[in-house]
Amino acid sequence: MHETLRFLEAHTDDILEDLRLFVERETPSTDKKLLDDFARFLADYAETIQGGRAEIVPAVGSGDHIRIRWDGEGSEPPIFLLGHYDTVWAEGTIERMPFSIRDGVATGPGVFDMKCGLVQGFWAVRALREVAGTRRPLVFVCNSDEEVGSPTSRALIEDEARAAGTVLVLEPSLGGALKTARKGVGRYYVNVTGKPSHAGLDPEGGVSAIEELAHLILELHGHTDHETGTTVNVGVMGGGTRYNVVAAEAFAEVDVRAVTVAEAERMDVILSSLKARHEGAEVRVEGGMIWPPMERTQKTAELFAHAKELAAEIGFELREGLAGGASDGCLCASVGAPTLDGLGAVGGGAHAIDEHVVISSIPKRAALVARLMETL
Ligand SMILES: [Zn+2]
Repeated sequence: MHETLRFLEAHTDDILEDLRLFVERETPSTDKKLLDDFARFLADYAETIQGGRAEIVPAVGSGDHIRIRWDGEGSEPPIFLLGHYDTVWAEGTIERMPFSIRDGVATGPGVFDMKCGLVQGFWAVRALREVAGTRRPLVFVCNSDEEVGSPTSRALIEDEARAAGTVLVLEPSLGGALKTARKGVGRYYVNVTGKPSHAGLDPEGGVSAIEELAHLILELHGHTDHETGTTVNVGVMGGGTRYNVVAAEAFAEVDVRAVTVAEAERMDVILSSLKARHEGAEVRVEGGMIWPPMERTQKTAELFAHAKELAAEIGFELREGLAGGASDGCLCASVGAPTLDGLGAVGGGAHAIDEHVVISSIPKRAALVARLMETL
């Protein structure tokens, strides 16, 4: 068995105890008090790892972020470990969904997305320092606002990604597979204005915003193309005031996803130039692409091939896949940093009540991250 894996397997109980500490401290994206408490806990925790210097990066409107540095001996660019510590779960969820370990699986709010990934990352650093004895410059950012689109951590993440040699994102895996590509995500608001009139006395005097929007919705959904991976979904719509009034207003909220930057740009042009069909109706569109796609570049393919070899040495087969959802990995890739995403937990049920991680995979995944840091 590989020495790094042996060290991590011997510490499985300690790793699970850390995971319990991480999960039992609840961190909903919208609760600054709980998030800031966690940031301070995390800073103390990180400093227990040989040589770690934790710094709190204050944020207004979100929880504070944490940046931990381990200095190296050479002048090579650091490896950038990235993960978020916020979860989608409200305070108190832990009461009805307590952290538990049963049948080889750990459960609890945020255990898969992505507290286990963070714990694996910290233990990977430990293994690197204590087993391999390698002094590679490392930087580890734990941000507080990924689940709400990373509004206050975006600049921090992009800066560290620019400075880094490689980015390792500790987001959950895709059934064990790494995410070597992610779709970009757009969010748009379509507002339609018509002209109100009495539906019985003066139907011709009105212009129905609802009729206009109905056409637009069909047009938008028509852009979905499962071959190229582009999807358009009107997830919310509404309008009108009463059944007997020709509707003066209607609105829709639209989710757009695309695999390539070119396709995301093409869809943005389509969304931004939506036009009304009926005279007297007006269409106004707000929003845009909030996450760029993470394309599978040549560099990503090489990184993946290397990770696959390391995984084979550790004793498991590593696969890769395309994720339909975005993450901070998209931000790193968009500034040109070679990025491997989905290096975190194996499990399932992200954002769902059956959220869980597979315990036997924890030392192996942590060993993979440690070996990547050692060999890149
Ligand atoms: Zn996540």
